[in-house]
Amino acid sequence: MINPFLDAQQALFEGSVTCRGLAEEHLARIASENPALNAFVHVDEAAVLQAADGVDARVDRGERPALAGLMLGVKDVICQKGQPVRCASKILADFTSLIDSTALASLIEEGAVVLGRTNCDEFAMGSSNENSVYGRAKNPADPLLVTGGSSGGSAAAVSAGLCHVALGSDTGGSIRQPASFCGVAGLKPTYGRVSRFGLVAYASSFDSIGPIARGLGDLAAVFQHLAGHDDRDNTSADVPVPDFATSADGSIAGLRVGLPEEYFDPGLDAATAQCVRDAVTRLEAAGATAIPVSLPHTRYGVAAYYILTTAEASSNLARYDGVRYGHRAADPTDLQDLYVRSRNEGFGDEVKRRIMLGTYVLSSGYYDAYYAKAQRVRRLIREDFEHAFAGVDIIATPATPGPAFPAGSHADDPLSMYLSDIYTVTANLAGIPGLVVPAGTNPDGLPIGIQLLGPAFSEAELLRAGSVCWPPIHASV
Ligand code: GLN
Repeated sequence: MINPFLDAQQALFEGSVTCRGLAEEHLARIASENPALNAFVHVDEAAVLQAADGVDARVDRGERPALAGLMLGVKDVICQKGQPVRCASKILADFTSLIDSTALASLIEEGAVVLGRTNCDEFAMGSSNENSVYGRAKNPADPLLVTGGSSGGSAAAVSAGLCHVALGSDTGGSIRQPASFCGVAGLKPTYGRVSRFGLVAYASSFDSIGPIARGLGDLAAVFQHLAGHDDRDNTSADVPVPDFATSADGSIAGLRVGLPEEYFDPGLDAATAQCVRDAVTRLEAAGATAIPVSLPHTRYGVAAYYILTTAEASSNLARYDGVRYGHRAADPTDLQDLYVRSRNEGFGDEVKRRIMLGTYVLSSGYYDAYYAKAQRVRRLIREDFEHAFAGVDIIATPATPGPAFPAGSHADDPLSMYLSDIYTVTANLAGIPGLVVPAGTNPDGLPIGIQLLGPAFSEAELLRAGSVCWPPIHASV
């Protein structure tokens, strides 16, 4: 496991590098490698260098900001003041943010330098980064394969060393699945742990912001400053924030690790199953006990997720009407024409599909059959986890049904793409945290991740166990 940010910070505080030097080095790497990867979609070099000089000035004054030296990528759905926020959509092509999201503001305050904005699926809707107005990001392991999505640019940028850490958002797996496909670590926090203020909403009762990093030391250092209560998000949790930096120490003696039988189903790719089993063996060797558990309502997870999130999206995306935000159709004949054409021209196919699905499941006559029923399934899934966590401390599962798939392979079949979210959507339905770390590689050398789930606010325990799951081959890189 490597922690490039923590290493860079040590060099910065020792005086052997400057923050400007780190920024220039990363900008040069972006200039040479990003054209092939398409991971960053906007880089404001002048702003980067100005921010880096500001950090150097603080360090010269004797300050030691906690994130000084951090070179950060930010998913295109997280607001940064004065920078474009396009959500990888044509509809926001000309939108510049007036605010910093709370999550980002906290990192900048501690000395983080934002290198630029990273690619994603339009409005974070997708599992492959193929639904992006910028075109898809490429997987650094093999450019013909998808990065995963929706935070595909963030995972690719971290994996290729274009930035130290990147922020993603996760509504149903968008941090964890691309982390798994790109061989890096990603944390979807407990719902409410990180403020959503300044995150463009997809499905508000599911969305969370979290970090993607190459090592758990880097990930914990950033998460320390993302977590915490914020008055500007009324679903923000007011609970104490532990010291995450000391969590990735691997002390897990006595930890009870649940293995849900429903997640190791026949559809699971054999190499993926083997990597997950190997990681569980490492946990056992470090003193954990593996215990079978059951999460019986898992098979309804994807259906409930795509009913509830599209319902919320249909409401959240109503604001893009050509009047206040975003693309406006030319020469409308009347108000209705303005709405219809602005939205029709501005949104991509997947976003339109979801708005229609969400509007349908909320419409009178169908509400009880779909939306209300999916809400009941959501409660059952939450209760499944509560029962399981009565007997185990964490749960270990595959992150995805298989490794990164070839671009275009699900293009004509949205349902097959949705079904690949089976292992990740349940954490968002239940509001619990999920950490994905590399577990190994398949015979073709493609990265495979393991997912660790825990009760609400157990991120420290997940980090501790995650450091043990990490395969030795990565440790020596
Ligand atoms: N792939 C899932 C979807 O398309 C998850 C997206 C996300 O977490 N933002 O909705």
